[in-house]
Amino acid sequence: MDKIDIKSLSEKELGQKIKDEGQEAYRAKQIFRWLYKVGVKSFEEMLDIPLEMRHILKKKFHITHPATLDSKASLIDGTTKYLFKLEDGATIESVFLPEKNRNTICLSSQVGCKMNCSFCASAPFGFVRNLRPSEIVDEVLAIRSKKPDCPITNLVFMGIGEPLDNYDNVMRAIRLFNDKDAFNIGARRITISTCGLIPGIKKLMDENLQLELSVSLHSADEGVRSELIPVNKRYPLRDLMQACRDYIKKTGRIITFEYIMIKGVNCSAEDAFKLSKLLKGIKCKVNTIAYNQIKARGYEAPGAGDIRIFMNTLKNNGINAISRKSKGEDIDAGCGQLRISRL
Ligand code: SF4
Repeated sequence: MDKIDIKSLSEKELGQKIKDEGQEAYRAKQIFRWLYKVGVKSFEEMLDIPLEMRHILKKKFHITHPATLDSKASLIDGTTKYLFKLEDGATIESVFLPEKNRNTICLSSQVGCKMNCSFCASAPFGFVRNLRPSEIVDEVLAIRSKKPDCPITNLVFMGIGEPLDNYDNVMRAIRLFNDKDAFNIGARRITISTCGLIPGIKKLMDENLQLELSVSLHSADEGVRSELIPVNKRYPLRDLMQACRDYIKKTGRIITFEYIMIKGVNCSAEDAFKLSKLLKGIKCKVNTIAYNQIKARGYEAPGAGDIRIFMNTLKNNGINAISRKSKGEDIDAGCGQLRISRL
């Protein structure tokens, strides 16, 4: 009999399964505390659970935990990138980003990715499989155990994979992050970043969760965006912007648009003007970041002068835009790059 993946269950589901085994459902709360607040890797460590019940749990359930294959810490800003090996041998990356008032983990949601964005380090390796909820929460548990003095305050789904392409498992993991008996991280501190999967954005509107939504734009021109993000051919900008307007109207929340500036591709004054026009009247903010150069992909980062002109044009056209500095530049902290360096 296959054992049940315990970290993919909600507290209520776990309670029901325990009840089915003739045990008291309230024990689920205790088990949650051991799994998510303490971070144990075995049932033997759950000391306030009766011994007999621990035996039953061990027979029925499985506790996943990844192995750490590699890690690299930035000497500049403390950003630390981890390469984890999952139980089937697949590898994923997660990044720890310390800041003055917050500690963020950048999470992967899939092994590989189907979206094939032309600038992305992970894209050439294609898609392998979705991460299970347990494997997503394990990214946080594994990093938290290595950084015991740094409480994790924020989570961003910006690692490898498209989170809305693994919608159900990502939402299950988010509910565990949000659960006060598990991680107790507020929904407003959790960001889902999508390359623009409209059906996922529509589903998200009805979740009644105060999540942060971030949409990767990278160009306001349909042709250029389709080259950078091929899924733009299926979900073109005009439809994506309508979905974003609907999302803002329904949830009352603003959207962050991500924009990677790539030399000679999408960051001229004209590009900024087009972007301002596209976003006119939409309650949003724009995060721009210079391309984190990956030799294999052939793109380059723009110079400081080009960035200044692009940002000033956005500002002069009424767009609330912030130019962010790339984290962990000395460790290639862009997604997929640690995985590549191991190949
Ligand atoms: S940028 Fe994100 S969505 Fe695009 S291929 Fe890379 S991981 Fe997938």
